[in-house]
Amino acid sequence: MATTDPLTLGQRLVAVLEGGQRTATYKLAVMVALLDLAVESVPDDPEAAVSIDLDDLAHRVMDLYWRQLRPLDGEVLRQSNDGRGVVFAAVSRLRAAVASSNLRETPIETAAIRAPRVYETEKLVVKRNLVRYPLHLLQRVGSTHERFLYDDAWLGTDSLRLIDQHDNAIELLPGVCFTLARLAPLVKPAFQLAWVDDVRRMNRALFDDEPDLAHHLFGADRVALQKPGFVLGDAFGRECFYCASHLTSGQHVDHVLPWSRVGLDGLSNLVLACSLCNTNKSDLLPDPAHIRRALGRGRDRLDALAESINWPSQFDRVVAAAHGLYATQPDTTPIWRATKRVDPLSRVDIVWPAL
Ligand SMILES: [Zn+2]
Repeated sequence: MATTDPLTLGQRLVAVLEGGQRTATYKLAVMVALLDLAVESVPDDPEAAVSIDLDDLAHRVMDLYWRQLRPLDGEVLRQSNDGRGVVFAAVSRLRAAVASSNLRETPIETAAIRAPRVYETEKLVVKRNLVRYPLHLLQRVGSTHERFLYDDAWLGTDSLRLIDQHDNAIELLPGVCFTLARLAPLVKPAFQLAWVDDVRRMNRALFDDEPDLAHHLFGADRVALQKPGFVLGDAFGRECFYCASHLTSGQHVDHVLPWSRVGLDGLSNLVLACSLCNTNKSDLLPDPAHIRRALGRGRDRLDALAESINWPSQFDRVVAAAHGLYATQPDTTPIWRATKRVDPLSRVDIVWPAL
């Protein structure tokens, strides 16, 4: 039986979090990646079962570690008690394969374009490892084993034949994808906090002071966003996307769909904003009209601009995440329309154009 009651599903996710001291952060990475993928995969029928492609999942997990394995004060943080692990080693090899340190500050999609063979090789390593261990173990908490997210009977192997037989996917049970997407705003921060705690414990020897680990592990990378910022200014003018004020040097690159919600750094999700709008909007969901305008800049244009700086565009992912985010929010969700104008979400706002 599927668990589509949000409270019951939420309790089981919390049980995953609290299931004893972790020796590595894999389970947390898989769960955060599944939450993000659920938001981008919300079906029209809330009760539908939803397939999650294992290459997509492997990519998301690599993306999380890609950012986390960049050095902090010259040190690469451990993600396991002994500092070892197949997935971390795979992502580290990809980091080593992109020669310049500039590239290591760009999104993983850029590395995938620059070093495609290494990327594909390492993604396969990661996928097989996820299927063999964390995906297999995620639903086993202590002595209990309940399949509340997906059928894991065939997992625990790294056989490519078996993966192929299951269409290279795990299937979220009926109703689970929709419920995960609903819970994501509550549950994802809890998983991130646990992750920060784990990394702090695993790296205790490294730091005398208390570095801002939460920002290092999960914050938006403002420095890396300078390059897309210049391109956006050249293409669409140096004015605030939201209030149209002219931007001088104090421009901010804003994530239209908040970074904390969906983690999309692609050009399709980026605009220039004045500091007032940027600060005031913060992590609020914007008026869907803003997203329509951001996407209305045109897929071809955004793709071409992104390509010109070797940056991901992520047009389809922005569309999918917008659909999932708004479809699963309650009517009372605060919606940011403009500076100091926040109203409850209204269903009539949510109209997506055919794209
Ligand atoms: Zn503004």
